[in-house]
Amino acid sequence: MRVSIVGTGYVGLVTGACLAEKGCRVVCVDIDPERVARVNRGESPVHEDGLPELLRRNVDVRLTATADWQSAIMETDVTFIAVGTPLCGDGIDLTAVESASTAIGEALREKDSYHAVIVKSTVVPGTTDSVVRPILERASGKKVGRDIGLGANPEFLTEGTAVDDFLHPDRIVLGGNDDRTLDLLEDLYQNFEAPKLRVNNRTAEMIKYASNALLATMISFANEIGNLCSATGGVDAVDVMRGVHLSRYLSAVSPNGNRFVAPITSFLEAGCGFGGSCLPKDVGALVAYGRSANEPMRLLESVLQVNKSQHRQVLSLLDRHFPSLTGVRIAVLGLAFKPDTDDVRESPAIPVIRELLARGARVSLHDPVASGESRRLFGGDVQVCDELKDAVRHAEAVVLITRWKEYEELPALLAELKREPVFVDGRRMIEKHKLAHYEGIGLGTLPAPSGQKASL
Ligand code: NAD
Repeated sequence: MRVSIVGTGYVGLVTGACLAEKGCRVVCVDIDPERVARVNRGESPVHEDGLPELLRRNVDVRLTATADWQSAIMETDVTFIAVGTPLCGDGIDLTAVESASTAIGEALREKDSYHAVIVKSTVVPGTTDSVVRPILERASGKKVGRDIGLGANPEFLTEGTAVDDFLHPDRIVLGGNDDRTLDLLEDLYQNFEAPKLRVNNRTAEMIKYASNALLATMISFANEIGNLCSATGGVDAVDVMRGVHLSRYLSAVSPNGNRFVAPITSFLEAGCGFGGSCLPKDVGALVAYGRSANEPMRLLESVLQVNKSQHRQVLSLLDRHFPSLTGVRIAVLGLAFKPDTDDVRESPAIPVIRELLARGARVSLHDPVASGESRRLFGGDVQVCDELKDAVRHAEAVVLITRWKEYEELPALLAELKREPVFVDGRRMIEKHKLAHYEGIGLGTLPAPSGQKASL
């Protein structure tokens, strides 16, 4: 099948490269000429494991990028919309979806044969039918359901493992309001092994939001419990969650005695909060949508509230050791919102660093792949270090925000320093006994009678 994809970001480019790998002819369309040029040179504009190899194999073979909408639409059978849908103030910003729909519609005016348009961007229920459809029909002069197919095919990939997630999905949600569109989508994904769910457009859109809202709820739940552990004293949220994970609802024992813990338990851990381009904005968009539908989402509002203040836990752990942060040298480790990506959107590291700077701390920052973003965001206000050891060398406190694999070596690295810094583990990544001055979110220490910290 010949496929065009509008929006060449994490989702659009991964979709394009993976469909090309599976044998489709793919044209990626973007308004950013630099992005188009990079893809045509076989370079990935985003950091994603496996993507450079896919581009090397497929660019100029089955995949090209262009800014020419007309040829992209004329030469393909189906167009995916994979542009960004940021949160703007109180609701979802559909500007890019709308302008992409207009451009696709105008290009379709010149096309005689049937063409399907599929919304892959995450959009609130009703957007495909009530926003994209009228724009497409107006701009093309054609009728959805007769001349044009219109579907919704939300994406569930996770940054960092996006290529693998796309090639080996847990599910494929095929949204469409007529059989022709749904059959086309089924055909496109015929070589993918995964349960395929045929639903209408609104249901497809809602599945995506419900899935992300569930994950965000798990995280805020674990963080709220973790914060209570901290306040209680003598309780470690890591032990508490280990006990919770052993529930038969969250783990199972196979007949040969092996225990399998459900992957969702990785969201049930205390930490400094969720970030990224999806969870905060999708839950925010759903809350705003609920309000507009006269169905306030009280649980999800709380999920967001807990998350918004969660980074402060990191600061209060520092406050236990420093009466003032003015002039204190603090190394922040990790700017990406999760490991294995360079995406820093809504990363909890950002409010932590802003607050440290506002309180006069001298901040060094390390991230294995997001150093360019670090410089862009903080300029000369923080010292961006390419090497981990340079970031921590003179630090009086080290704050871990992102679970990068290479941070496992921190206990050995910090032990070599003349004076071991206070270590604040925002992800409970390092075992607490491995560092002399360890503090972790959800680690409720009891004050010993002498006023010293009692170990758990
Ligand atoms: P992104 O910001 O990485 O990429 C968006 C791309 O669209 C950019 O290259 C931009 O130049 C381009 N663009 C913007 N307006 C355009 C227009 N009018 N015409 C053509 N191109 C245009 O975004 P992303 O992270 O890939 O997310 C895309 C959508 O997928 C969003 O709705 C997001 O919520 C959803 N999603 C993202 C992820 C994720 O992990 N990133 C996962 C699942 C779903």
